[in-house]
Amino acid sequence: MSLLLGCIADDFTGATDLANMLTRHGMKTIQTIGIPKGDIPDAEAIVVALKSRTIPAAEAVAQSLEACRWLKAAGARQIFFKYCSTFDSTDKGNIGPVADALLDELAAPFTIACPAFPENKRSIYLGHLFVGNELLSDSSMRNHPLTPMRDSNLVRVLGRQTKRKVGLVPANVVARGSEAIAQAFAQLQKDGVQHAIVDALQDEDLFSIGHAASAMALVTGGSGIAMGLPDNFRAQGLLAKRDQKVSLAKAGGLSAVLAGSCSVATLKQVETFKSRAPAYALDPLILIDNLDNSLAEVMAWARPLLAKGPVLIYSTATPDRVAEAQGRLGRDKAGELIELAMARLATMLTTEGVHRLVVAGGETSGAVVSALGVEALEIGPQIAPGVPATLATGSPRLGLVLKSGNFGGPEFFSEALDALS
Ligand code: ADP
Repeated sequence: MSLLLGCIADDFTGATDLANMLTRHGMKTIQTIGIPKGDIPDAEAIVVALKSRTIPAAEAVAQSLEACRWLKAAGARQIFFKYCSTFDSTDKGNIGPVADALLDELAAPFTIACPAFPENKRSIYLGHLFVGNELLSDSSMRNHPLTPMRDSNLVRVLGRQTKRKVGLVPANVVARGSEAIAQAFAQLQKDGVQHAIVDALQDEDLFSIGHAASAMALVTGGSGIAMGLPDNFRAQGLLAKRDQKVSLAKAGGLSAVLAGSCSVATLKQVETFKSRAPAYALDPLILIDNLDNSLAEVMAWARPLLAKGPVLIYSTATPDRVAEAQGRLGRDKAGELIELAMARLATMLTTEGVHRLVVAGGETSGAVVSALGVEALEIGPQIAPGVPATLATGSPRLGLVLKSGNFGGPEFFSEALDALS
């Protein structure tokens, strides 16, 4: 099997979302946690999961370039840079700086930026990103703890992150199909544009855009835009048509849910699951006093309960509580503290025999998976749009569900545990 698509994802749940998408569209896909140390996994698509969304831009660039070089050396024919469908970033980056560096590395003149995913309620119209019926800047993303999004105009948002010219392919061109889109790309390049935001109002648009990007060395966007890429390889006779059903071996063992996301969907999921399982709330203002003691208390609480069924440990809190913690500890410190707590709890829980773990939150998942020393994930069936069941390579074979904060319905935690059992 030869590698076709090399992907770099700026967070772990985003990587899983993308790996899920490529698997569903017929590519044998492996997600790796950072650059794997051992052999190149045998796959048609490899998604290298980084945790580079909110680190300093220079570090995000360095890690992304390293991943790009490794993927190219492994034989990747096209590079895909995946970020969140809500374009999570700040004026310092990291989407613009990373995309610029990858363009330079690949000696590519032009790329697209398309975070749209209409099936998941992310559409772009005239460069403005909508979350469901709301502009991005009116959505709950305006209160995200790390990357508050207060401007919906992606041409403007990306324009603040790069010195290169940012352009737009509007919806009326996209509606005319892949040839019209390819012509628009060519015209924008003549006009000196190097990054094009591309409108998308329905999933069919993503296929047209994907096809139009067939020859691009670099494509950037959300997982939705990756839908159109496998067909490009099929059209070149490089990828077989195959049954899209996937299954995973069972992980067995005890189970737990760790929720470190404060996104609206996770708030609902935590509320719902609290009536199904014992739940423990982590408070950063208490953790700061003595982390070791606090974690020992959590484990003393969890240990006798685990044998009876899953437990939920969460830091999920409403925006006013988050603002209070951030006001007292600082935004980064509050986030790091919770991530460290979740990472250490994950390690302690697996030592207690937890082999099935559901994690809510992109940054949180990154911290947990790094602490567990997971190197790669086999991708299983989809639980909710963007979230598959996965099985970690290595020993023990941990069943993991890594969920981006805003994904899944209110019953998601129960559904995820069912999928792993
Ligand atoms: P999402 O996928 O919803 O964006 P993430 O895990 O990526 O979730 O980001 C949530 C961030 O908020 C993490 O850095 C986490 O540590 C931090 N966080 C979680 N709970 C709290 C809290 N109660 N107060 C302050 N920060 C929090």
